Amino acid sequence: MVPLVPQADLEAAAHAPKHPHLHRGYHGTGLVHSIESCGTVDGPGLRYVLFLQGCLMRCLYCHNRDTWDLQSDKAREMTVPEVMKQVMSYRHYLKATGGGVTATGGEPLLQYEFVRDWFVACHQNGIHTCLDTNGYALHYDEVLETLLDHTDLVMLDLKQIDPDIHRVLVGIPNTRTLAFAQHLARRKQKTRVRYVVVPGYTDDDRSAHLLGRFIAPMDNVDTVEILPYHELGAHKWALCGDDYKLKGVHPPPKETVQRVRSILEGYGKAVIV
Ligand code: SF4
Repeated sequence: MVPLVPQADLEAAAHAPKHPHLHRGYHGTGLVHSIESCGTVDGPGLRYVLFLQGCLMRCLYCHNRDTWDLQSDKAREMTVPEVMKQVMSYRHYLKATGGGVTATGGEPLLQYEFVRDWFVACHQNGIHTCLDTNGYALHYDEVLETLLDHTDLVMLDLKQIDPDIHRVLVGIPNTRTLAFAQHLARRKQKTRVRYVVVPGYTDDDRSAHLLGRFIAPMDNVDTVEILPYHELGAHKWALCGDDYKLKGVHPPPKETVQRVRSILEGYGKAVIV
C-alpha cells in the first residue's frame, strides 16, 4: 500500500500560519537529508546539492522515498554558515563549470526560510542558485518573494496536468503546483520545467499536449527537461517498509521519449533529455 499524505500533515499545511516546516518552526537551521558536493544532474555545471528533508507529495516513482518524513532521526540540522563553509570550499570548481548550488529534496519549499537565507548568502558570494521544486508553495509572502529574488533558476516538476491522473500518480491534487507555475510566469522567473515520462501515467500524447498547452504562453519557461522514468530508487521503498507500486513498470523506450519530445517542441519550447 502506498501511504497517502497523512491527513494531519495536510491540515497542518493548510493552517500553518507562518512556518511552513509544519512541525519544526524556523530557528535558523535547515533539516538536511543529505549532501552531494559535486552533483551533475541537478542544474547547469557542477553543483553543490542540498537534499532537504520532508515532502508532502507521494509520487509512485519517487526515487527519494527516504526524504518524505518531515522529521527524521537520520536527517541533520545545519545552519547557513555551516553549509556555506562547505560551499565556499568548492566554489572554484562550481564557478569554473558554470555551476553553483541547488536546493532539492524532499521539497525545499517546505523549509523556505532556510533556503532563502542560504540563497541570499550564496548571492553575497557570487554563487549561482537553483531551486529544484515540486511547486508545493504554502505561503505567498515576503519570504517566498525574497527567496525567488535570489534564485537564478527554478527547476519546476510538472508531473501531470490532468488532475485525476495527478492524484493517482502523486497522491495529492496539482492545484498548488499549477498556481506556483503561474506565479513564476507572472514574475518572469527563469524556469526549466521537468517532466518525468512514466509509462502508463504520463507517456501518452494527451498528457504531453496538456503540458505543452499549459506552458506555451509562459515566456519564463525556456526549457523543458524530459526525465525518462527509472527504477533506481525502488530499493529505498523496501527499506522504508513500503511496497513499490510501479514494480514491473520499465523505463520508456527511446521512441516514446522522442514522441513526447516532438509534441513539446511543437509548443515552441527547447526540450532536452
Ligand atoms: S515530489 Fe519528489 S521527493 Fe516528493 S514524492 Fe515526488 S519525487 Fe519524491
